[in-house]
Amino acid sequence: MRILGIEGTAWAASAAVFETDDPDALTSETDRTPDPSSDHVVIESNPYQPESGGIHPREAAEHMATAIPDVVETVLAHAAERHDGPGPVVDGVAFSRGPGLGPCLRIVGTAARAVAQTLDVPLLGVNHMVAHLEIGRYQSGFDSPVCLNASGANAHLLGYHNGRYRVLGETMDTGVGNAIDKFTRHVGWSHPGGPKVERAAADGEYVDLPYVVKGMDFSFSGIMSAAKDEADAGTPVEDICVGLQETIFAMLTEVAERALSLTGTDELVLGGGVGQNARLREMLAEMCEQRGAKFHAPEPRFLRDNAGMIAVLGARMLTAGDTLSVEESSVDPNFRPDQVAVTWRGTDES
Ligand code: ATP
Repeated sequence: MRILGIEGTAWAASAAVFETDDPDALTSETDRTPDPSSDHVVIESNPYQPESGGIHPREAAEHMATAIPDVVETVLAHAAERHDGPGPVVDGVAFSRGPGLGPCLRIVGTAARAVAQTLDVPLLGVNHMVAHLEIGRYQSGFDSPVCLNASGANAHLLGYHNGRYRVLGETMDTGVGNAIDKFTRHVGWSHPGGPKVERAAADGEYVDLPYVVKGMDFSFSGIMSAAKDEADAGTPVEDICVGLQETIFAMLTEVAERALSLTGTDELVLGGGVGQNARLREMLAEMCEQRGAKFHAPEPRFLRDNAGMIAVLGARMLTAGDTLSVEESSVDPNFRPDQVAVTWRGTDES
């Protein structure tokens, strides 16, 4: 089976082809770490880089309009090289249906419909946040993990129950990456700020910042205001970066631990672009080790926004017969993970 994935919810115009000659690897009964010799993901990405400030929806959509056709063409050419025999070059087209920026999603949806109709193959509408979770579950072979999604526009804990991924806890205001990016814009650093915070923190000393966890939810707006105030007061920016990492990641780790405890699960997977941060992965790994839980963080190309995770989940949806007609394939900028009926897992799983 070969699936084209298309991603473009915000900044990454990305296309991928996922190929497996082992369809059993896609069913719930045989969930396991894929055999690298039988699985193959090629990802082509073209990131939007704002000239100044953060992501501007109209500019991002203009970027998608030119970059999506290019990346799709590149991976389809790769698929064509590997294709022998009759039939279409891919067996299905998976695309990010949401959540994300409406103008960007509409371009992705249009591209996916056009390719699916041209090749006469099924269309697969993927929830971007569920894809962040499922790539970790698929790679790790974990059965029923809790997932921490730490991305630009989101921050939440997901756990599976009764056919859906339930939101166990989430941000009460901005996404975690967006919060960090707001601080870095304030100190004059270009987008994205997360990697720059990580580099700067290597040379800093800890500064105390507000820690806000309420039950299973967290808030980042107070910590960002306090970090900006510290910068305006002349505190070295490297020190503030240490404070930001230690405080925000401790908040995420605390709620992740509580989610493990409440669900009784001993498996945690990480998703989202902020998951590329080594300090966050270290804190989560330590917490899991202390409780005897297993932890999996996908490699960076599968953590940040990427079409590989869309193609992999699309393949599992196709195996489950979870396809979309063109008429019902509209995108949804507010598509929550708990709206998705999880058709690709066995019905006996709780
Ligand atoms: P979403 O998946 O919610 O739509 P997104 O589209 O913004 O999120 P992601 O690729 O998941 O995209 O995450 C991008 C975010 O990750 C940015 O805010 C960026 O600053 C942050 N980020 C990237 N690398 C690091 C790092 N090393 N440390 C901290 N944050 C990072």
